[in-house]
Amino acid sequence: MKVGIVGGGHNGLVLAGYLAKDHFDVTVFEARHRVGGLCVNEEIFPGHIISTVATYFGMLRRQIIEDLELEDFGLEAYLTDPIAVLLLPDGGFTFAPRDSSRTKISVPDLTAADLEGWKRFWSDMAKAAQLMSPLYHQPDSTQQELIDILRADGLHNFADYVFDGSLLELTDLYFKNRYLKAAAAACAPGFACDKGTVYSCMHYGQAQACGVQGGWGLVKGGMGAVSESLERSALARGVKIRTNARVAAIRVENQGTANKQATGIELEDGSFEPFDIVVSNADPVTTFTRLLDERALPKNWGSSFKNIPSTASAGKAHILLKRLPKFTQLEALGHNYAGIIIITPSIDDIIADAKRVERLEMPRSLMMTMAIPTVTDTTVAPPGEHHLNIDIHCLPITDQGSAWTEQSKSKIRQAVMASLKVHAPDIEDAVEDVYIVSPTDIQERFGVATSLCWHLPMTSDFVFEKRVLPGCRGYGTPIENLFICGSGAFAGGAVSGVAGYNCAKAAKEFARRASLEALQR
Ligand SMILES: Cc1cc2nc3c(=O)[nH]c(=O)nc-3n(C[C@H](O)[C@H](O)[C@H](O)COP(=O)(O)OP(=O)(O)OC[C@H]3O[C@@H](n4cnc5c(N)ncnc54)[C@H](O)[C@@H]3O)c2cc1C
Repeated sequence: MKVGIVGGGHNGLVLAGYLAKDHFDVTVFEARHRVGGLCVNEEIFPGHIISTVATYFGMLRRQIIEDLELEDFGLEAYLTDPIAVLLLPDGGFTFAPRDSSRTKISVPDLTAADLEGWKRFWSDMAKAAQLMSPLYHQPDSTQQELIDILRADGLHNFADYVFDGSLLELTDLYFKNRYLKAAAAACAPGFACDKGTVYSCMHYGQAQACGVQGGWGLVKGGMGAVSESLERSALARGVKIRTNARVAAIRVENQGTANKQATGIELEDGSFEPFDIVVSNADPVTTFTRLLDERALPKNWGSSFKNIPSTASAGKAHILLKRLPKFTQLEALGHNYAGIIIITPSIDDIIADAKRVERLEMPRSLMMTMAIPTVTDTTVAPPGEHHLNIDIHCLPITDQGSAWTEQSKSKIRQAVMASLKVHAPDIEDAVEDVYIVSPTDIQERFGVATSLCWHLPMTSDFVFEKRVLPGCRGYGTPIENLFICGSGAFAGGAVSGVAGYNCAKAAKEFARRASLEALQR
């Protein structure tokens, strides 16, 4: 059977690899000049291989790495030592070397009860994430099932808060220290005071880099090497990958009838290729409001995609360094600048900034997760040169209603530098160049219509059964031989490959049924 895949993001490539393994005839159409989508390397500064968007490795399922032999095709993930250091206001910090007996926590007003609560919180978080993980391979699982599983294991707090509470409310049940709360807030991509952040923290808690449960690492040669290994694996199995091949439409015959069928893919250059099965790796807004004719869908069906509620997204700052900056706390710790460095504002600032971003204003103090991959990987920069890769957790999706421009991005640059300066006073002197990826870039350069990291939000209205399309099952759509496999599908975003993996099963099952029906005719 011939399968056409719209988009060569990592999920599209995972899907392509699995289908090709089962002898499907697969073609991937990627709009950009290279595959990978948000999981990509680019030479932003001369000689520097930068993980432009996704940077941290941990979510990609081991099963996928093995089945598609990604390590044989060049994937090499590694763990750093230390794992992470988290820099808090007023000189507070938490320091996590790989040897956990050397862990240090230094925050004002820390009580023994808070410390015990902090440890219990992370132990429960790890357990909750692990309990959730198998559900990601059951696309018909529901929010209630997760709640029941958490309760059955005694995680009543998590069951109560996973969908209806915020991380801040949940931590309150474990410890009171506001510095520790700010530290916990860093595990949520959104603002810790927002609903949905318990779930998103559990989502990322499933990481398992290099076999370490809860472990996050980096990839040798940059995170884009994940997509490159997937591409090589797919090509070796006969997948045809076409880059600079933007899909203009998914053609559907018998529109408006019960027998409607996707017949193939129309490219922007006007060419058409027929397929038995079409799968979209693009976000659902792109797929259902841009690539399909409204008449191919049930009446008003797509209207929900036109108004995805969102004011906040994320961004990146890539900094070319003249030399390593001196972070005051890291110098005091004798830190080697390897691993993850997190800067988190105070809880009061997080709460105030959540309100600002809701009004599409810039936050005053940024929550940032960063790494200097050049310290641990000599393949990503010329000898002796360094770059700093920064994730900005929360940014207004637009600049007060207008798309982010090269000019307005200077606001983001200034905010990044101001937040860095608090912990690395010499930062300005260490900087050669700064490159910002704004939410508008995520939309325009990377083709995510919603500008969201995970294509759709990961709040209770958009996870588990609510991420499955209305009236459909799993990865299905209202058109029987059209499927979705991107982060906007079950079970959401991150470089996990889960959607591509599960969707391959759904597409194979469809093909099996279709062959059976053809034989019976
Ligand atoms: C700032 C940021 C930081 C992140 N950091 C991490 C991280 O450190 N670790 C992690 O695990 N996850 C991270 N994520 C999330 C992760 O990057 C994404 O969830 C994941 O990469 C999405 O993969 P995907 O294959 O589902 O979709 P995408 O990567 O979005 O791929 C979709 C593909 O479809 C293509 N496409 C769209 N429309 C068309 C068309 N009409 N024709 C042809 N092709 C088309 C696009 O060009 C793209 O290549 C981050 C996300 C963001 C935004």
